[in-house]
Amino acid sequence: MSINDSILNSVGLTDKNIKFLISDNGDFNELVTLGHDQHQVLRYRATLTTVPEHCPQCGFLLSGHFYLAGTDTASYKLPTANGYQQILLLTKQRYQCLRCKNTFIAQSKDFMSNSTISRPLLHQIIDLAKRDISEKDIAYILHISHSKVNRLLHHAAKAYRTNYTKSLPTVICVDEVLYAKHHYGFEMINGTTSDLIEIFPTRTSIDIRRYLSNYDLSNRQRVQYVVTDMNANYSAPLRVMFPNAQIIIDRFHIIQLAMKAVQSTRITLQRTINNKRSRVYKLLKSNWQFFITDQSKIDSTQPRWFKGINEYLYPQDALQLIFGLSPKFKQDYKIYQAVLRAQRSRSFDEFSVILSQYKPSHSAMDQVILTYKKNLKSIRNAFLQKPSNGRIEGINRRIKQIGRTAYGYGNSLNYFFRIRLQLFNRKHINASFINLLTKKTCESDKIIRFTSYISQTL
Ligand SMILES: [Zn+2]
Repeated sequence: MSINDSILNSVGLTDKNIKFLISDNGDFNELVTLGHDQHQVLRYRATLTTVPEHCPQCGFLLSGHFYLAGTDTASYKLPTANGYQQILLLTKQRYQCLRCKNTFIAQSKDFMSNSTISRPLLHQIIDLAKRDISEKDIAYILHISHSKVNRLLHHAAKAYRTNYTKSLPTVICVDEVLYAKHHYGFEMINGTTSDLIEIFPTRTSIDIRRYLSNYDLSNRQRVQYVVTDMNANYSAPLRVMFPNAQIIIDRFHIIQLAMKAVQSTRITLQRTINNKRSRVYKLLKSNWQFFITDQSKIDSTQPRWFKGINEYLYPQDALQLIFGLSPKFKQDYKIYQAVLRAQRSRSFDEFSVILSQYKPSHSAMDQVILTYKKNLKSIRNAFLQKPSNGRIEGINRRIKQIGRTAYGYGNSLNYFFRIRLQLFNRKHINASFINLLTKKTCESDKIIRFTSYISQTL
């Protein structure tokens, strides 16, 4: 391997037509200080003399039929190494076509037209964007400006197209995701691998049908289970779009619904107590976790410490205290514990009994029972089938985290792109991200334009 090839390898370039200038004593780079912050930069110099086969203007076969028309020197940013910024001063040959007299410059696939970012550096940007790092930090690590990172990622985001030909898995988990104030998206996750399948910006019934109808029917027929929550919006379109699938209400959501009712009844009760220093008030206010804990996980043989009132009490005594105050709360609490028990023993019969014996009490639980009744068939599936939405909760946490790292994304397009970048199956993105970038010039702001690279590979 020649020295030139070694240098190419070490700076991440691949075009062998780039010839580095090596001084008589063997130096091929120099350390200089640049910029207002006087940071250290490793500078390389090289020449590029690639003659294209055809004239880019008139298509004339060049092979020797051209003039040399001077050189242009441009500065390109290379990937960082050892924390140094690396810069390449590239002297490019200019040619003139014999036929049309137009001039053009030597091109290399390692660089993009109208951008000083080299492809290996772009690769570094995308690679870092797959991790939970803010754009600002990416810019800092790679010694480029924040706005440049933002612009590059924004272009990638704009060019993104969903790949509807990708085959769907047998188990799909769907959920809504809050990505901006009052803006909910709709996400689909592979229930077996927990890779994100796709995230869509809206979640209305019509939109969901529209998104899903882009997948072939044969593809949609592959899906056997769709795990979802009890959001009334979804179940209808999901049933239509996945004709072979059983809809399963996520077990977590079944419990969560009853739990929220207990919470809300507790808070309502708390508000009716005027004496904020009373024992019951303090007990209710400071021990909310106790009132939603599964009773089977509470040791009733031992007194436990209750915050707020600062006393040891037997759990059942604490409950009796509140039950005596509000029969409504008593009923809601009992129903919630019964739902938990039915879940634990995986008995749908037990669950049905809860519904049939319920007596409306004008509390939050009324609505919960109604929702249960409305979704009974899908809830039954939850008791009988295995798939559950546990994974989606993890994904939602990560989506929130991605938003937090960026201190909230002003631009939801960029946010979605980062979510996809970070949550799609990484193997696929790594493979040919760079190969799929084109050199087309973007007319609006003259920086590189991305093609629908991900849609082609994912
Ligand atoms: Zn020409």
